[in-house]
Amino acid sequence: MILYGRQDISSQDIAAVVDVLNSDYLTQGPCVPAFEKAICELTHAAHAVAVNSATSALHIACLALEVGAGDLVWTSPITFVASANCVLYCGAEVDFVDVDPATGNMCPQALKDKLEKAKCLGRLPKVIIPVHLAGHCCDMQAIWALATEYGVRVIEDASHGIGGSYGEHKIGACRFSDITVFSFHPVKIITTAEGGMATTNDAVLAKQLALYRSHGITKTAADMLRPDEGPWYYEQHELGFNYRMTELQAALGLSQLGRLQTFVEIRNRLADGYRNAFAASVVQTVDPLAGSLSAYHLQIVRLPDPAKRRAIFEKMHADGIQVHVHYFPVHLQPYYLGLGFAKGDFPIAEKFYDEIMTLPLHPGVSQEQVEFIVQRLMLHVSA
Ligand SMILES: *Cc1c(COP(=O)(O)O)cnc(C)c1O
Repeated sequence: MILYGRQDISSQDIAAVVDVLNSDYLTQGPCVPAFEKAICELTHAAHAVAVNSATSALHIACLALEVGAGDLVWTSPITFVASANCVLYCGAEVDFVDVDPATGNMCPQALKDKLEKAKCLGRLPKVIIPVHLAGHCCDMQAIWALATEYGVRVIEDASHGIGGSYGEHKIGACRFSDITVFSFHPVKIITTAEGGMATTNDAVLAKQLALYRSHGITKTAADMLRPDEGPWYYEQHELGFNYRMTELQAALGLSQLGRLQTFVEIRNRLADGYRNAFAASVVQTVDPLAGSLSAYHLQIVRLPDPAKRRAIFEKMHADGIQVHVHYFPVHLQPYYLGLGFAKGDFPIAEKFYDEIMTLPLHPGVSQEQVEFIVQRLMLHVSA
């Protein structure tokens, strides 16, 4: 089976993890800070906070921005459920902004219209969470301009995006956001098995992220609220969690980071192969914004006839090609229907979902396999 996504683990990655197993610290040692520092160097963000998943990073990013009961947060309906669930964890209310029909990313015009209406109703969101679907960067300059105008904070869900850039800014630089979140799940660009990271340029936000990651506890003498009890003393200032990344994960992440550029280059080459092969056909590739470099987590294509998708999907699997669909709109999930969302709420997202299919794209896929996948897909599309 040609998988749609897969990790790439080298003998160096394995050795790095084994070294940690033979060391004194399996958690709370030197690897996590080293990994965070490396992410700062990569993205040019001032601060990075490693956690045990992007879901955790999204949760504590919302908490750091003081999202709580009575607050409203907007995200994209075309995303993994975690982009919306993080809002509900905080006791706040979630809503969605419809997408650009070409990219499936949060549409700045739809955002503008919704912000205008929300302002009239006195129900502006506190935070918006644009998602870089497939690693293709959202129109962040337009989104940030609107966020600034309306006093809304921005979390970029860049779970698909590490290694990409927007203009001259690396994804994660937070040039057009308050916090950026990365995922290191095995199907993503680099992996720590499970793991995530939040980057920010705001020292106060970084401190809050670090507090929430580890029980709300601080060991920094300058931050103590009570008199020092002795060298063993620490204080709890917030109700935090155990969202820490282990040393094993951080060592794997650091080792993987050394191959990030290669991974992104391979993914872009394979995507070029798909784009050229489909150029004159009825199948359309979903392409990155001009002037940006996508990390190309996913190769999403749009099929001409949504009614045939299921049959094509099944034929591709029978051919040994694990195609997928990213994503079923979050507002149509039974849980979200239970919150009052309904079919027709975000029509462009729903239409986008009906047309899309994800084709295999990861460093283990060869150009020959891309040709095979294209040939089989074109055959089934025209059947
Ligand atoms: C994978 C993913 C997440 C969650 O990542 P985890 O590290 O598995 O928690 C969040 N948002 C998007 C868009 C994702 O693809």
